[in-house]
Amino acid sequence: MKRRGLTGCIILTLFLLVPSRAAAQEKLRIVTTLPDLAYLANEIGGDLVETFSIATGYQNPHFVDPKPSYILKLTRADMFITVGLDLELGWVPALLNSARNSRIQPGGEGYVDASIDVPLLEVPTRASREEGDIHIFGNPHYWLDPDRVQIVARNITKALNRLLPANKSQFDENLEHFSTRLDSLYVEWKERMEPYRGAHIVAYHNQWPYFEEAFGLDIADFLEPKPGIPPTPSQLALIIRHMQQDNLKVLIIAPYYKQDAANLVVSRVNGVVVPLASSVGAYDGIDTVFDLFDYNVELMVNAFESATE
Ligand SMILES: [Zn+2]
Repeated sequence: MKRRGLTGCIILTLFLLVPSRAAAQEKLRIVTTLPDLAYLANEIGGDLVETFSIATGYQNPHFVDPKPSYILKLTRADMFITVGLDLELGWVPALLNSARNSRIQPGGEGYVDASIDVPLLEVPTRASREEGDIHIFGNPHYWLDPDRVQIVARNITKALNRLLPANKSQFDENLEHFSTRLDSLYVEWKERMEPYRGAHIVAYHNQWPYFEEAFGLDIADFLEPKPGIPPTPSQLALIIRHMQQDNLKVLIIAPYYKQDAANLVVSRVNGVVVPLASSVGAYDGIDTVFDLFDYNVELMVNAFESATE
């Protein structure tokens, strides 16, 4: 009896151990470049994934310092999701090389280029960095349009289905839920922005063409003379003249740019600086893609209202 009791106890212990270990192993480790991608991977992957975003939402995604801790995360990752094009060209290749994880190298089954099938804007006829341009394959800031976010969500779902085919129905269902909600909110956001359709505005960095297209805006000028090149005093003088001539009042900017130049410009034209959220996590309380568009639409509506007062 004693023996059987001991054996039973061992079997019971093993039985209890196995499911928890299996559950821990089942979680797919996903590393993303941006928090927006991590958010989407969480939405669709649910409790079957754990995500880590290398960049924060208030960091310039073109320039991220590679840290050893990121390499460690990539070494252990099952999936890596990148915005692609040349957005993260300054830091992703070095991190992937150091991680030496074939699963998440380009071509590996866990490598996900989120830009696949995304219609791009501003694709140049010739890719060149001669003039300091950092958008050489087309504008890479495509996650600021709800319709393109839908494509990214589908790309992530495809990758999850590839890596965890047994859970396909769950991922497809999560995608459906997310997509439906985003579609219906997009209708509301567009309605709120409708009175300002065609409004001419100015931006600091050329990162809003997808937002511009999605919400019917018209970005007439940029403080940066070329993407990635900080504005010079002569460029600022040109912008001020342009804003004065065309009565432009609204200047949009991401949180990681210094606002000095923007403040100087708007002070000369009696305008407003609008610090939009350029990513999930850009500001406290912007935890989801829905928060991001809610926040940006609210800020734009307020800016247009104050500019016409
Ligand atoms: Zn950019």
